Amino acid sequence: MATVPTSSSQRVKVFVRARPTPYFASEFITIRDKVISIQLPVSPRRINQQAREWNFLVDGILSNSSQEEVYAACAHDVVSGVMNGVNGTIFAYGQTGAGKTYTMSGEPQYRLRGIIPRALSQIYNTVRERDDCTTIVRISCLEIYNETLTDLLGELPKSDQGSLSLSENEKGTSSVKGLSVRVADNEEEALNMFFEAEKNRLVGEHALNKQCSRSHIIFTINVECHSAVSASSEYTISKLHLVDLAGSERLGIADHSGTIVTETIYINKSLSFLEQVVMALTEKRRAHVPYRHCKLTQLLKGSIGGNCNSVMIANIWGEREHLENTLGTLRFSERIM
Ligand code: ADP
Ligand code: MG
Repeated sequence: MATVPTSSSQRVKVFVRARPTPYFASEFITIRDKVISIQLPVSPRRINQQAREWNFLVDGILSNSSQEEVYAACAHDVVSGVMNGVNGTIFAYGQTGAGKTYTMSGEPQYRLRGIIPRALSQIYNTVRERDDCTTIVRISCLEIYNETLTDLLGELPKSDQGSLSLSENEKGTSSVKGLSVRVADNEEEALNMFFEAEKNRLVGEHALNKQCSRSHIIFTINVECHSAVSASSEYTISKLHLVDLAGSERLGIADHSGTIVTETIYINKSLSFLEQVVMALTEKRRAHVPYRHCKLTQLLKGSIGGNCNSVMIANIWGEREHLENTLGTLRFSERIM
């Protein structure tokens, strides 16, 4: 029996979240504890055909789980880590429509809110309980579309912004020149920033009449803790990246033209660079981690792998017609674990 690898502290934890569908778990997907199995039955007309089966072992499987349960399983500990000075990243992966945005942002109803608003809530609850330090929370939100960076909390609307540039200092930390980083004094202010970023994201999507999201969205919360007891000016800074990745479906480039081809090339590349970075981080001999190949991995540098807590939520769709993409998502999960 395979076991989930435990040794490496840099490993990305993987949770699979299955969208509720009428047929889920009855037709071809079975879940046993942490193993998700996909079986394709032998078709009655092809006697010699072998039944096909794939098994994937992950850190947890969430099917028919509420937003609250998903938060408790995947995000709570990462946020606690951030409040104790440990960087974290939570990213949602999967084909368009599988539930990435539902997982990260959620719906307007309070009960259905996603990981981002819940993380803000946990952060400010912790801040209120603490009397040993003064905490400053800062928020920024970036969109990466075809390797172009846009500020979703900028003064100017998206269409009037130039592309932001990314640079690296001597310590190897990436920063985005001109990106709005706003202080949020309380949960309400922080939530308003989240809503503003959501609105800006959607404006762009509707303007281009898009059914699906072709960009990566990175919502970043910086937590700076100044000791209230010691007289020293020491403080800790930690960072939480909450990432809603572009759809992972592999579109056949030959079937499309122009914009879609360009978008697809960029998405395919950045998702495979993300995979390479995560794989390089988990390898024993960590000679070179290829962060610099794309903006996504450059931005996540320092918050993924190393001593950070990283979680991927692999969103899948249980219906037969999505089998190829579901397998694609589960294979990606298996490779990065
Ligand atoms: P993605 O961001 O991966 O493209 P969405 O999060 O936008 O997908 O989900 C597509 C649709 O399915 C949305 O209307 C969303 O509300 C719904 N949905 C996704 N996951 C769930 C879930 N676990 N429970 C209920 N509705 C869901
Ligand atoms: Mg989405």
